[in-house]
Amino acid sequence: MIQVNKIYPALCKLASCLDRADYEFTDAKTIKTKQEDGLVKEEIKTVTLGHACNNHVVEVNKMLQDIHKS
Ligand SMILES: [Zn+2]
Repeated sequence: MIQVNKIYPALCKLASCLDRADYEFTDAKTIKTKQEDGLVKEEIKTVTLGHACNNHVVEVNKMLQDIHKS
């Protein structure tokens, strides 16, 4: 059976913009989980931080750098 799913386009993260995003910002995070046998398992996961339209790549990048700087 064919299913029809509505897809939601990503929107620019700049507060007042809400234009359709052309760019995606991701970060690779190391997730550590302790196993039952005491060993620590490390996994690298890609997380999506946000999206930006063509006009706001620089601004959104700067915004995300401020939020996620470590
Ligand atoms: Zn924008």
